[in-house]
Amino acid sequence: MTDIIAIDGPAGSGKSSVSKAVARQAGYGYLDTGAAYRALAWHVLDQAASTDDAAVVLQALDSFVLRLGLDPDNQTVTVGDTDVTEQIRQPRVSAAVSGVARVAEVRERMNTMFRQLVAASGLRAVVVEGRDITTVVAPDAPVRVLLTAAPEVRAARRARELHGEDAAAVAEALHRRDAADSTVVDFLTAAPGVDVVDSTELDFEQTIAAVRAVIDRRGAENEHG
Ligand code: C5P
Repeated sequence: MTDIIAIDGPAGSGKSSVSKAVARQAGYGYLDTGAAYRALAWHVLDQAASTDDAAVVLQALDSFVLRLGLDPDNQTVTVGDTDVTEQIRQPRVSAAVSGVARVAEVRERMNTMFRQLVAASGLRAVVVEGRDITTVVAPDAPVRVLLTAAPEVRAARRARELHGEDAAAVAEALHRRDAADSTVVDFLTAAPGVDVVDSTELDFEQTIAAVRAVIDRRGAENEHG
């Protein structure tokens, strides 16, 4: 059986880069669930439709053929025959993604797909990263981490990632997305049994070390019953 290392957190908490690095170092798989939601939003926009309309989003799901690998060193995302790896990071997709993420049926379909991907991987463990992984997708995972950081630190990190973009506009977009997402999933509060790693005062390497320390501690606890 493949273990899930579940990592939740808001945008800009460092969750993607930290999860990927942890997976790489430990030799685990890595599943970026946000990429799946982004790919669906891209697919809706590609059909010149709006993600504001739940019926349209559901219809788009029928023709949504996604390929998403678990290799932390190869994060190619394909929809149908189109490589959308770069395009799903565009601000227009970020702005549209909450529209698909709030459709309950979309979430159910995505969650089933995530669990199947992990189960079929043949890997010892997969770091699964998203907004609702510790609570909905894998509430029984042996390791569950909520990665947080102060809002201003998250906005500053995002602005650095999207170099060239106005920091205030990035902070505003991030805040808007957090607000829209938090009506669907509470990703700012740790559920019981979830370990919080606050990266506000930590650099990248320190955050990786903090997450790995949680994995080691929980792993040892599980071994000793
Ligand atoms: O993590 P990332 O910023 O790429 O996620 C993009 C969007 O996908 C989020 O803003 C959220 O709307 C949605 N999402 C979600 N549940 C997940 C992962 C992502 O609702 N597990």
